[in-house]
Amino acid sequence: MTPFDYVVASDVDAAVRAGAAPGTRFVAGGTNLVDLMQLGVETPSHVVDVNALAGRDPALAAVAVLPDGGLRLGALARMSDVGWDARVRERYPAVSESLLLAASGQLRNMATLGGNVLQRTRCPYFRDTGTPCNKREPGSGCPSIPGYNRTNAVLGTSKHCIATHPSDFAVALTAMDAVVRVRTPGAGERTIPFPDFHLTPGDHPERETVLRPGEFITALDLPPLEAARRSTYRKVRDRASYAFALASAAVALDVQGGTVRDARVALGGVATKPWRAREAERALVGRPATEATFRAAADAALKGAVPYRENAFKIELAKRTLVRALTEVSA
Ligand SMILES: Cc1cc2nc3c(=O)[nH]c(=O)nc-3n(C[C@H](O)[C@H](O)[C@H](O)COP(=O)(O)OP(=O)(O)OC[C@H]3O[C@@H](n4cnc5c(N)ncnc54)[C@H](O)[C@@H]3O)c2cc1C
Ligand code: SF4
Repeated sequence: MTPFDYVVASDVDAAVRAGAAPGTRFVAGGTNLVDLMQLGVETPSHVVDVNALAGRDPALAAVAVLPDGGLRLGALARMSDVGWDARVRERYPAVSESLLLAASGQLRNMATLGGNVLQRTRCPYFRDTGTPCNKREPGSGCPSIPGYNRTNAVLGTSKHCIATHPSDFAVALTAMDAVVRVRTPGAGERTIPFPDFHLTPGDHPERETVLRPGEFITALDLPPLEAARRSTYRKVRDRASYAFALASAAVALDVQGGTVRDARVALGGVATKPWRAREAERALVGRPATEATFRAAADAALKGAVPYRENAFKIELAKRTLVRALTEVSA
């Protein structure tokens, strides 16, 4: 591991001041950052431990009801605590399921919400410093495009990178129109709609989010959303536990008198960022809640998909996953 300075931040202001220095990373649960530091993929010169911040401001690790009826999820809250929270389970089942279907029990007890949405891709070339990778080393090339790409993306790809975003939780947040609350060095707080938070790779796969240097996520807000009470997160993976999604779908449906009145759809495991499928939503709203409608929505969601040598199967897999999720919430 490359040597680094380590400081424990005592409050959010101190954290963002320290985080603004070049080469700094915050460490929360450490389950992604420390792993990548051990592999030599991340080589920060300064590490700011943010775990003690919750002692000063417990809201940073809590779930709170907002005046508008939504929920505020503190960025330092652990995945398991939020996944099992009764209010999250009842009002946003897709969010609860996305957290509880991710990683393993031990990891969920350690990992935080902020760290989860900022975790980096599992593309094997990205994690192997012995190979080129445009995301890790801009301009070095992408061996995945001609090489091993079974787990990589079919939506939102570019000629520079086809890596999937690995977070399950981020897919549910995208579907629910969550909002990211961020503390900015020297400039107070700003908010970012979650569907705009992550970037597709384009010409700069090394830029993954709209976060600026030193910015610290304080919370993720879930807006009041009636349809979210009938929501689910469906995840298909190579084995029953402890595996990233090959395809996943977060959906929320409001069906009245057999007709879809409101629909929220996002896909995971198949795209370079948590993928809001607005074409699918348009294909659902105002239509009868039938299998034919759901299949048409799935076709619309995957219309722009570009398969690579080993991952064409993901297109049909994602469609079936989405149809299954829609069928489940409409029952
Ligand atoms: C074996 C294994 C299996 C896994 N399976 C899954 C899975 O199926 N689904 C899934 O979704 N995830 C999975 N994960 C990933 C896991 O969920 C993430 O590692 C975890 O959520 C990261 O959270 P953390 O708090 O440990 O982040 P850290 O490792 O502490 O941080 C990750 C990144 O976020 C930054 N950061 C952290 N908090 C903040 C903040 N508040 N503001 C700004 N920046 C911040 C850090 O600087 C760092 O860059 C798996 C991980 C492992 C090791
Ligand atoms: S797909 Fe992206 S992360 Fe994977 S090797 Fe290519 S550039 Fe790197």
